[in-house]
Amino acid sequence: MKGYVFHGPGQSAWEEVPDPRIQDPADVIVRVDAVTVCGTDLHILKGDVPQVRPGTVLGHEAVGEVVETGTDVRTVRPGDRVLVSCISACGRCGHCREGVYGQCRGGGGWILGHRVDGTQAEYVRVPCADLSVHPLPGAVANEDAVLLADIFPTAYEVGVLNGRVSPGDTVAVVGAGPVGLAAIATAGLFAPERVVAVDPVPSRLQAAKEFGADAVADASEDPEQLIADLTGELGADVVIEAVGLPETFELCARMVRPGGRLANVGVHGAPATLHLEDLWARNVTITTGLVDTRSTPTLLRMAAAGRLPTRPLVTHTFPLDHMQEGYDVFGNAAETGALKVVLGVPQHEVVAVRPTV
Ligand SMILES: [Zn+2]
Ligand SMILES: [Zn+2]
Repeated sequence: MKGYVFHGPGQSAWEEVPDPRIQDPADVIVRVDAVTVCGTDLHILKGDVPQVRPGTVLGHEAVGEVVETGTDVRTVRPGDRVLVSCISACGRCGHCREGVYGQCRGGGGWILGHRVDGTQAEYVRVPCADLSVHPLPGAVANEDAVLLADIFPTAYEVGVLNGRVSPGDTVAVVGAGPVGLAAIATAGLFAPERVVAVDPVPSRLQAAKEFGADAVADASEDPEQLIADLTGELGADVVIEAVGLPETFELCARMVRPGGRLANVGVHGAPATLHLEDLWARNVTITTGLVDTRSTPTLLRMAAAGRLPTRPLVTHTFPLDHMQEGYDVFGNAAETGALKVVLGVPQHEVVAVRPTV
């Protein structure tokens, strides 16, 4: 079969690789029907994630059909259409028993496209299948479902739930890329007073409005002042960091009100300064986290009911074997306007960002 293989920093290719085989009784093999490229994949290609060994097939998000199951698999059968989660879970370790699947110590966690071959291929082996794939309702199309493998649960769990967004809150979301937009949309589920999006790219601020932001701020034009003006100089109740740079984290720490919450979602590759000399007496809660995907069943039900704006995030689609083109378009988002690229569905270009709710 073909897969997208990491060969070391800056080197990767869509090439012939061995077909995956069942290696453990808890495994399934899934034929990949739709897959996306994640910002984390770009980090891997840059060499920021040294645990990924050269020769690994990348990708941790997919929709497909189960074609083979190990003898211990109980929840799916060959022929089932499933969502492959970015997080695998053994279901037995202490963390899994608490629903903290991202920290699984029994062979799960973020393993696909990281420690084992991933989803950017014609077929993928999914370990610990019972808790790592989700049977898909027929009402959810591939392009919508694949966004629930990573970005929607990440935005919702690590941003909105960790930030404890509550009715009447002022919520600032710094970074209006795919995860930031999903955070804006899911923050709206909790009836905040307002959601403010901060980003330097005008097209992303426009998208933010269409995903439910009530106000937007160009990152270069004093977003702190806007938040101060909107909140009577108090600051935001919740600030969600969805970029992953030292300066954006530090901006978030300046925008949060006393007693407020700063939920970091961004993937950081460098140290950020924590200004404890300003923060120590302000009762601020700072959270970090890797997604657990424990909310995926809930999000799937919402998507099936048409209550999640998934499709407007899909700006580009390609056939599966155009993987390199998908990476090029996603990697040059500033020029291409890409939010999410989905491979494996018929090729067309979605030009307008139009939420479904
Ligand atoms: Zn990802
Ligand atoms: Zn576990």
